[in-house]
Formats: sequence, C-alpha cells, structure tokens
Amino acid sequence: MFSPVDDIKSRLDIVDIIQEYVPLKMAGANLKGLCPFHREKTPSFMVHRGRQMWHCFGCNLGGDMFTFIQKIENIEFPEALEVLAKKANVELKREDPQLRSERQRMRELLSASAQWFAVQLQGAQGAEALRYLKETRVLIPDTLEEWLLGYAPKGWEELTRFLRAKGYRDQEMVNAGMALAGRARGVYDRFRDRIMFPLRDHHGAIVGFTGRQLHENKEEGGKYVNTPETLLYHKRAVLFGLDKAKQDIRAQGIALVVEGQMDVISLWQAGIR
Ligand SMILES: [Zn+2]
Repeated sequence: MFSPVDDIKSRLDIVDIIQEYVPLKMAGANLKGLCPFHREKTPSFMVHRGRQMWHCFGCNLGGDMFTFIQKIENIEFPEALEVLAKKANVELKREDPQLRSERQRMRELLSASAQWFAVQLQGAQGAEALRYLKETRVLIPDTLEEWLLGYAPKGWEELTRFLRAKGYRDQEMVNAGMALAGRARGVYDRFRDRIMFPLRDHHGAIVGFTGRQLHENKEEGGKYVNTPETLLYHKRAVLFGLDKAKQDIRAQGIALVVEGQMDVISLWQAGIR
C-alpha cells in the first residue's frame, strides 16, 4: 500500500509547488531561481524535476517538497503533510502515524536506534566493543543495560537500512542526526564503528547520542562524535546522567559534575549517584 507521502508525491510536481513561491527559469535539465531562504542577487537555488528535489548552493539547504513547505511556511512535518495532502486531493486518516508530531516520530526513531545499537553490542559485530567495555572499563552487564550502551557497526548503511525497514524516511534520519546526506547515493550512517552512549533529556527520553571511536581513525572524525543540534537535542540543555541523578541531587543538595560519559557511568556503577 502507498503511504500518504508517496501518494502525494506521485500526484504533485515539486516544480509547481515551488513556483507558487519562487519564480523559476530553465537551466539545462533543471530549474533555478533566487533562493527564498537567503539573500542573493544571482540564482543558486536549483530544482531537479527528475529527482523531485531542491537544493540551494548558497545556503546549502535542500530536500523534497515536504521540507520546502516546512521551511517556507515555517511549519513542522505533520502540518506540511496536511497542506500538500489538500493540494493533491489525498485524504489523510486521522490515526495515520505520519500525522503524529515530528517530535514524537523523532523520539521513536532515536529510541529504536538505541535499542538496535544495544542489540549490536551483544552480537558478532559488537564483540570487540563489548570486550572493551567489560575488560578495559570494567562495566558489568547491569550497568550496560541501565545506560543502554550500544555499538554502531562499521558499515555505511547499517542503521539506515534498519530504520528504513521500520518505515522512517531518509529525511527523518537526517533530521534526527542519525544519518548524513551523501552527494552521490542517498543517506549514510553518521555513527560507524563507535560505542554509543544515548543522551537523555531530564525526563529520561533519548534525544541524541555520543559515539566514541572504537579504533582510532582520523578520517572518521574525532574520537567523540555527538548528535548535531536537532529539534530534540540542544547540546547546552543536556547534561549526561541528569535524568538519573536529579532526585539524589535534590535530596542531597549536591551535584558531582565530571568530564566524560564514561566517568559518570563508572561512578554510578561504584554507587556514587
Ligand atoms: Zn539559499
């Protein structure tokens, strides 16, 4: 069965949608115009009719017709879905999961990712990471479980493939900070060959990850890679372990702040909470 998103995309042309806001001119196989998202005098805003995508080479924004409507109308995905469904004459069922707020979808995506990383840690690909955590870091299974530590495998599309099978769109993975948009062939995993620490807000909901390199590899970014700023993850607002510590902090009136995630977890395991 067609999802409403596919249904809408098959009935509408991105060129018509964008032309309601931005005058476009033919430029080879594509169309171009002045970018509505940054000031410019020469057009660097491109629309690809064949791929039904847009991209601005000036401000580097881009996406499909849904992301365009979200940006230009300053609305979230569920509202953009309603706007375009109306244009396309597609009826949306109220209980459609795509209508749930973008935040809720992102929370579920991150939670599913964390569970999947934890499963990988216990699997064949995670053997070395698990050995590191148990032997070098002396963490016990209860601790791994409590903090939901995981492992992101080496491949380029491991998590991406899993999330796609769960019904998430590539754009949602990018928005959640779990995937990066490649130039040539779609999206790929942001975290590869890393031990994964879920980051939680003070309610305990997963809002992002820190990934620690298992093998030093300069080409693969730094030793630690964090989720970028997203709808849910704001670096300044997240203090690792606060969701677990806040009651004790309130009760005892003191808080111990240490440098790394591993320090927090080791202290927690040692009974310092
Ligand atoms: Zn632009």
